[in-house]
Amino acid sequence: MKILCAVKRVVDYNVKIRVKTDRTGVETANVKFSMNPFDEIAVEEAVRLKEAGVATEIVVVTVGPATAQDTLRTALAMGADRAILVQTDTETQPLGVAKALKAIVAQEAPGLVILGKQAIDDDCNQTGQMLAALLGWGQGTFASRIAAADGGLTVTREVDGGMETLALPLPAIVTADLRLNEPRYATLPNIMKAKKKPLATVTPDALGVDLTPRLTTLSVSEPPGRSGGVKLPDVATLVAKLKNEAKVIP
Ligand code: AMP
Repeated sequence: MKILCAVKRVVDYNVKIRVKTDRTGVETANVKFSMNPFDEIAVEEAVRLKEAGVATEIVVVTVGPATAQDTLRTALAMGADRAILVQTDTETQPLGVAKALKAIVAQEAPGLVILGKQAIDDDCNQTGQMLAALLGWGQGTFASRIAAADGGLTVTREVDGGMETLALPLPAIVTADLRLNEPRYATLPNIMKAKKKPLATVTPDALGVDLTPRLTTLSVSEPPGRSGGVKLPDVATLVAKLKNEAKVIP
């Protein structure tokens, strides 16, 4: 079985985000970018399925600018076999990405597509679901465990108050949650080997996909700063304040 993994290049999760002075977005100049953390988990799971003999080939794909090749190389160094860059300088949004992924699925015919549950820059949590809908495939979202079973998959997902286990026939879409696995670090020899692995570039036009954004960002602002705290003399004063000022207890 071939696995397709979607990976996105995002501002690194350790970077302290700064909003642009004109409030049109966040500052991206001179900022470290890396693979979306949930996508690292998706790639790791694909590599583990290959190591377990369930998968035979892992193809990673990203929709983004030429610089997103770095992210693909990281995935190749983790163990993916081939990479595809759908190159665009347009801002990517879930519907456009899902359409591009659908076109890649038509070319590659994977048995399973694994995505991250959400990109940490736009926090949309939509692309996997949209792709499943466009393809008419079943989906196991927020997966915390995946196992091959009876020619299909069982996917365990965290739901309110417990765990839910689903059986999915293949082909299917899975989105990776935080507890699915702990991604490996790419070793230096594997980083060197990844430089020689195939990386193909295609344009959205060649795929017949229109990536024009459907949404316009009106403004981006920082969360309000925290106001200073106060020290209270005793519990009775605290309870009185919670009751009369904050009105959070009756
Ligand atoms: P989102 O719906 O934007 O929160 O993203 C959910 C998942 O979709 C991410 O974790 C990625 O696996 C995938 N994805 C989103 N944007 C892209 C992109 N530009 N290129 C490749 N995969 C993407």
